Amino acid sequence: NTRISRVKGAITAIQDFPKPGVLFRDIFPLFKDPAVLSDAVSLMVEHIKDKIGSVDVIVGLEARGFLFGPMMSVQLGCSFVPIRKKGKLPGKCVQASYLLEYGTDIMEAQAEAIKPGQKVVIVDDLIATGGTMSAAVELISKMEGRVVECLVLIELLDLKGVAKLKHPFFSVLQF
Ligand code: 5GP
Repeated sequence: NTRISRVKGAITAIQDFPKPGVLFRDIFPLFKDPAVLSDAVSLMVEHIKDKIGSVDVIVGLEARGFLFGPMMSVQLGCSFVPIRKKGKLPGKCVQASYLLEYGTDIMEAQAEAIKPGQKVVIVDDLIATGGTMSAAVELISKMEGRVVECLVLIELLDLKGVAKLKHPFFSVLQF
């Protein structure tokens, strides 16, 4: 698929970021070229249309899930809801905690943002260990949303993050 190779070709690898020993996949070069960005978004949107059909909510994960989620929700004609780190969203929130390398962190969504039974697709730029995505699944399940797909642009295969997920998963491209 030429669109996948164009998108993959635009992603760069940065050695030792954010710390020594880590090879960071940088998605921002994608955003320099509107044609390649459009490829990335349409590959994700087409996947949802083909596999799921209609959805109620796209949930985007802070921060790079916010770059793709709203563009997708506009094309799919559904809501966009952000999940953020604790303390950033106003009003009553629902929380889920997740494991970091050292200690834990908490993520939140606004309490009324997802209604029981709504079909939810969770979107992020990348899955590594799967900790972020599985915490998001837990949070949406607390709100009684139905997670119909966990979708990322990039999957880091070595880290086997998908093994943490019990819900349907798809990645557009893999390293
Ligand atoms: P996980 O929780 O699966 O270990 O890490 C995934 C989260 O960390 C995602 O929200 C993603 O944005 C960020 N992340 C981890 N490694 C990378 C990377 O190499 N590139 C990018 N763009 N994001 C990363």
